[in-house]
Amino acid sequence: MNIPMLSTVLLLFGSSLSSTSLAQTGPVRPGSAGTNTPNSSLTPGVRPALPPIALPPIQNSPSPSAPRLLQSLPTLTLTPPIPELLKVEYAGNGFIEVAHAILLVPKAQIKSPLLLELAQRAVQESFQARTTLSEVDVSVFQKEGFQGLAGPLPLLTASVPITRLEDFVKLNSQAPKTWSRYGRLWVNATAPRSPERMPSLALEQNLTFYGSPPDLSKQRVHQVLASLRGRGMNSSVMFHGDPSSDESALTFDDAPHPLFAPLLLDTLRRGGVKATFFCIGRNAEAYPYFVRDMARAGHEIGNHTYDHVRLPLLTPDEARDELLKANTVLEPLSKQKIRYFRPPGGEYSLDSLKTTREAGMVTAFWTDDPGDFTNPGTAVLRERLLAKLRPGGIVLLHDNVLETNLILPAFLNEARRSGIQLVPMKELDMPMQR
Ligand SMILES: [Zn+2]
Repeated sequence: MNIPMLSTVLLLFGSSLSSTSLAQTGPVRPGSAGTNTPNSSLTPGVRPALPPIALPPIQNSPSPSAPRLLQSLPTLTLTPPIPELLKVEYAGNGFIEVAHAILLVPKAQIKSPLLLELAQRAVQESFQARTTLSEVDVSVFQKEGFQGLAGPLPLLTASVPITRLEDFVKLNSQAPKTWSRYGRLWVNATAPRSPERMPSLALEQNLTFYGSPPDLSKQRVHQVLASLRGRGMNSSVMFHGDPSSDESALTFDDAPHPLFAPLLLDTLRRGGVKATFFCIGRNAEAYPYFVRDMARAGHEIGNHTYDHVRLPLLTPDEARDELLKANTVLEPLSKQKIRYFRPPGGEYSLDSLKTTREAGMVTAFWTDDPGDFTNPGTAVLRERLLAKLRPGGIVLLHDNVLETNLILPAFLNEARRSGIQLVPMKELDMPMQR
């Protein structure tokens, strides 16, 4: 494209790049309010056009993290009580219920047989406490330093579908070498240590570009051109798919989660939909069987860094390490070549885009973020999802949000009725490879 033509293009898109729209997530429809867009369900046969890409503002310092509002989940009371038990939470997707037990063991008492015995007791008692459960997952952490999934990795984890309960409780705690036969058990071979890089609590809400004014200008041109091509694939960055297709990508960030992963997989299986799970490397390491389940079910695995960190705050070497370390975990588990990278917190820079490209991956942004992590209520979440669903779009959800799990069965049906086929990221990309 020559310079006068480019100037015209920039002029045309100038109005969509006002300071207001720049602060919103990805493409913003004129007059919309980012993730707060209400109303307008899709009518079959009527498809809103994909709007131009809005560029985010310059950020030279970390943006404040969006606070994750606490979601309160029901808990079980186990009998007899297990002193090391922190809690057993459970949740459902309208079809099945799954529980997750967390046990905390003081450092002085850590011995493999005890860890398994505690896990076996917690699982058995959970199934007894709530007979409607289809699966109980368990995570045993060192008590000292415990900070949930964001802290040091667990010591032992297991996933126990009701059909495998007998196999699990029969495992001989005194013979750790035989445990691998079970297949859904992970034992941490290293001493628990804090994450190498502190995980960012920033959620994928607004895209945030880090860089100088010249960097921003360069990126603005790049994104406008990507939008004009009708397909956002440009220099290994994907903003959206083909607006003339009937496909929209369905993506879940922050996977896998020991309570919600089985629920999501069950919902997607029932709905006959394949999606992309952007996995955090350390979570995948601690719950490897869920990544295997995802891949076996035909879902695509994406990279969300190893520690859930914001790449623009790292040196290029550190950023590369985060990406490759995650792939080292994800590729053998999924038996997939990891193609897409979703930047934690939606934060990126020219350097981070380059590092991702050099690692052989495509930075995957999104068009539709309904803000599920703020727990807006299932009715609002449904409205936002439907209001923004469009051909060529990329829907961003989080796998660890109860409301997402509750609304998903209905959303899958409504998307189908509106003529949109929900697909993994790779499907949006396919025509480009022909
Ligand atoms: Zn994330």
